[in-house]
Order: sequence, then C-alpha cells, then structure tokens
Amino acid sequence: MRLSKIHLNTLREVPGEAEIPSHIWLLRAGMIRKTVSGVYSFMTLGWRTVRKIEQIVREEMDASGAQEISTSPVQPAELWHESGRWGVYGPELWRLKDRHGREFALGPTAEEVFTDIVRSEIDSYRQLPRNIYQIQLKYRDEARPRYGLMRSREFIMKDAYSFDRDRAGLDESYLTMRAAYTKIFERCGLDFRPVAADSGPIGGKDSEEFIAFGEYGESDVLYCGACEYAATSEQAEVPDAPASDEAERPIEAVLTPGTKTIDAVAEFLGLPREQTLKALLFQIYDEAEDGTYIIREYVAAFVRGDRELNMTKLRNALGGIAEHLIEFADEAAMGAVTGSVGGFTGPVGLHDCRIVTDSEIPGLRNLCAGALREDTHYINVNYGRDWTAELVTDLKLSKAGDACPECGAPLNIARGIEVGQIFKLGTKYSEALEAVYTDENQQEQLIVMGCYGIGVTRTMAAIVEQHHDDDGIIWPLAVAPFHVIICAVKYAADEDVRRVSDDIYEKLRAAGVEVLLDDRDERPGVKFKDADVTGIPLRITVGKRAAEGVVEYKLRSAAEREDLTTDDAVARVVAAVATVSLRA
Ligand code: ATP
Ligand code: MG
Repeated sequence: MRLSKIHLNTLREVPGEAEIPSHIWLLRAGMIRKTVSGVYSFMTLGWRTVRKIEQIVREEMDASGAQEISTSPVQPAELWHESGRWGVYGPELWRLKDRHGREFALGPTAEEVFTDIVRSEIDSYRQLPRNIYQIQLKYRDEARPRYGLMRSREFIMKDAYSFDRDRAGLDESYLTMRAAYTKIFERCGLDFRPVAADSGPIGGKDSEEFIAFGEYGESDVLYCGACEYAATSEQAEVPDAPASDEAERPIEAVLTPGTKTIDAVAEFLGLPREQTLKALLFQIYDEAEDGTYIIREYVAAFVRGDRELNMTKLRNALGGIAEHLIEFADEAAMGAVTGSVGGFTGPVGLHDCRIVTDSEIPGLRNLCAGALREDTHYINVNYGRDWTAELVTDLKLSKAGDACPECGAPLNIARGIEVGQIFKLGTKYSEALEAVYTDENQQEQLIVMGCYGIGVTRTMAAIVEQHHDDDGIIWPLAVAPFHVIICAVKYAADEDVRRVSDDIYEKLRAAGVEVLLDDRDERPGVKFKDADVTGIPLRITVGKRAAEGVVEYKLRSAAEREDLTTDDAVARVVAAVATVSLRA
C-alpha cells in the first residue's frame, strides 16, 4: 500500500491518559483511538495487527481440530439464570433491556451460549468430542478499565469450548489446547509461561494461565528455579510452618496502648511477628432481587502476623464468594454485632461471625492476639484450648522466598500479563443446562467440558510491552501491520527515487510481501520517525544513491544500516518474510 493513501496520524506527544508503554505507543503510532473509557477503535495499521494475531490464533486452533463458529455477543438473561450466574457475576456483567423489558447481557464469556448450542445440536456419543470456538468482541464493565488494551471494557477474545464423553477425553482436549496456546504465543513473539491458576468465576478445578512477562502486568507469578513449579500468587500453595513443640502457657491479658498494627504490638511486646495473630475482618453481601446489597454475615480471618491474606483463597474457602460481594467490614458496625474492636480483634470471645483461619495456626503455640478491648492484647493464645475456627485451610498469600510446594527450594516472583487461560470445567455447565448425550449402551451421560480463552487485543498490548524502544514499537514480523516500509526520500521531486522505489514496491508485492511505500511529500525525518514509531520490522530507504541502484536496508530492531543493490534488498526482505510463513 501507498502511505499517501492510508490514514496514518502519529502523535508527537504522549497522550495524558497513557501510562504504560503499550498504551503510549499504540496511541502514538496512530493504531488505536479511544472512543470512551475502556473502549477503543482500531485504525488501519492497528487493525491489520489485530487481524494478524487473530489469524495466528485461527490457524493453530484449526490445526488442533477445533472449528470456528460465530455467535452473537447479545446473550439472553434466561441462559444466565439457568447456569446460576446472572446473580453472581455482579456489576462486571454488562446488562441491557430490549423495548419489552426483556433482559440481556453483552457476553463477557460464552459458556452458557455454547452449552446451549451443544445441548440442542448433539445427542449421541458419535458426535463427541467437539471443540468449537469463536473470535469475538467481549464486554466486561470493569471497575477500573486502564492501560489501554490491557484492561478494557470491550475487547476481542478467542473463546473455545471442548465437549467430551468423559474425563479422559477432557484431559486430552485440555492438553491439545495447551499445546496450541504454546504455539500461538510463540508465533506472536512473546516471552511467556503457562502457570497454575485459580479458576475464578468461570468455575471448574484445573486451570492454567498463560502469562507474558512484563513489569506492567497485573499478575504475580511464583516460580521455582529448581523445578518446573509455577503458579499465580492467587493460586500458589504455601506450605505451613512446622508445628511448634512448645508447651502451652496460661493465657494472659496485657496492656498494649495504641498498638493497632502487628508491627506496633510486636515491637511493644518484644515479640517476633511470627508469634502474633493477624485478624482481617470482612462483611459479605447477598444481592437482593431489586439489585441492592444486604449484609449477610461477618467473617474474621486469621493468619500468622507476618503473613498476608490471600483474598482469592478466602473467597474460595467461603464457598466461592464473588469478588463484588465481599469487602472489609465497617469496624463500628461489625463491633456492635461480634465484639470486634478495630486494631484489637482476636479470636478469643469473638461471636456471631464466621471464624476462618489459616492451616498453620493450629500448629503454633502461645500467640499474641487482640483481646477485643481497646489497648489490650492476649498473649499465649492457643488454638483448640482458647478458640476454634469453623474453617481451617490455606489462606496464605505466597511471596518470593517461600518454599516451593513441590521441591522446597525458595520461590522467585515475576510480574506478568495474563494473555490466555485454559480450564477444565467438568460438568458444571452441562449439569446446570442439562447438556447430555447417549452413550454406546443407550445411557444418558453428562457432557464433560473445558473452556479456553485468549485475549487477542490484550495479546497485542503484551507484544508491545515486550517489543519497543525509545522510538516506538518493534513488531515481530509475524504480527507486524506490514513487513517492510520503503522510505522514499523526496519521492515526488526525485525521478530516480521514484523509479527505484516503485520498482522495489512492485517486486515485493509480486513476491507476496506486505509492503508499505512512504510516497508522502514529507521531510525524511518525519518518514523515519513514523517508520520507527509504527514499528515496521524492515526498512528500505531509497535516497541519494538511487540513481546507482543502491538502497539502504535496516532492521527496526538494530542500529546498523547496510547499502545493498535493489535486487539484494528485495531478496533480503523476501527471505526474512519467508521465515515467518514457514513457521505457520
Ligand atoms: P483478569 O484476571 O485479567 O481480569 P480473567 O481471568 O477474568 O482476566 P478470562 O475470563 O480468563 O479473564 O478471559 C480470557 C482472556 O481474556 C484473559 O486471559 C485475558 O487475556 C482476556 N481479558 C480478560 N479481561 C480482559 C479485559 N478487561 N481487557 C482485555 N482483555 C481481557
Ligand atoms: Mg483468566
């Protein structure tokens, strides 16, 4: 394409709302434009890259045996009632009504819709297994849309659903998807890793997230240098501290004026933080029919003083409380019901609330905990003798240095971007929506499901996070909007430049190369800046030596330039592009 015919509006200034490299550079390269918070338009170059990523996803999905279909993002509320998710998905579900008052959602994901299709289309074991997918706009009314394409309210997702006769079939489908995802993210040029993950509101047990490493990611990954273990911080198991063999000492109330934090009380009493009990107080809501929230109960969660509480583990332990239905308790209101006292809450004597504790606590001895009185703590508090909890389970948030649950070596931590997730759903949705098939013995069986998502537009942002420099984006060839740009210096004024540029342009087009010819009447500096910011991976500059048939060849990722004959330059580009096509 000729750049003079393409709408390209690059920006010199960093737009005020953009904080991270992918957001800044996609805006500055004129690839995306904001419509409204969390909703973006894709301009010519940006859309070409989206379609490249989609195509990689499509090719690998098709190669894995999956079939592409297309469903509407408009989903009837009835399906969500059937699965039980209408009431629990919360304000992230973008709801709308038609003129008759009938309720719908704009799909944030499509388990219900796909299960509904399959229950009416499939009835025999002969039709299984199946894996169907779509590449579609998804909607989530995120509490904090930010970072451009990274966390938006409208985004493109590839979502696939597998339907199997049994668990063994699901295990196979899951591994097939895992392998396809690995190829997809490799082809996108990402540095990534699959890690064990929590399954969140989608449900099911086994799950992995594909995390692209990047400092602006919103996921923390704990990984072991000594073995293969890797998990999100939400998911990582934290081994309990060894049980103490100390003798139990008598419980005793001590004055601890003004010591509202673990650090303060530990310092005041001269105790290690490991010898204290940390209390975290929550209120849990029910959502009423009219959409209002009512406090259902209070929860007090206890972990060792030096630990952090893992909210995901807590929500799961409480039976899968949705994120929007739990928050820190109002201290005064909770105190009136349960006896808790802000900064001085402990488990002894606490009443009318659910008490949950981390699994290592029962093994520890003689801890210090709040005494439910201002400026007072108990010392020598012992589980079993002085208090018990309704639930005892791992609630610890893992951190760098914690022991690997598999081999015991200290774990490392890295930040990353969740670009995809795969889940074994089992029969959660087939049970709820009655998706069954008839087996060889004419018996009805539940279909066993898996689901597999890739954030296409988030992947685009993740690629930029990993591939940019101070001048702009450096697209990997496989996802670049164009493979090569010809910077024709004085195209309009210099006949040799025009002839040579046109010649290279036509030869590259004939060879199937995606080539952009900068034939605009712009200064060379402007052309080079635009070529850099938009990240076209290969550049041919046609300038002073055009008359001799010599041009300059440069990679966007390297500083070196090379003078080549036009034919050599064409051959180089064709060879470089061939490496991408070969990987497909
Ligand atoms: P997150 O934890 O980041 O909110 P999620 O786990 O809720 O994401 P999934 O339900 O697993 O997301 O969706 C599949 C994929 O869709 C994610 O792996 C991610 O790449 C992408 N995705 C999810 N939410 C967004 C969003 N708000 N903006 C862009 N992409 C998203
Ligand atoms: Mg996810």
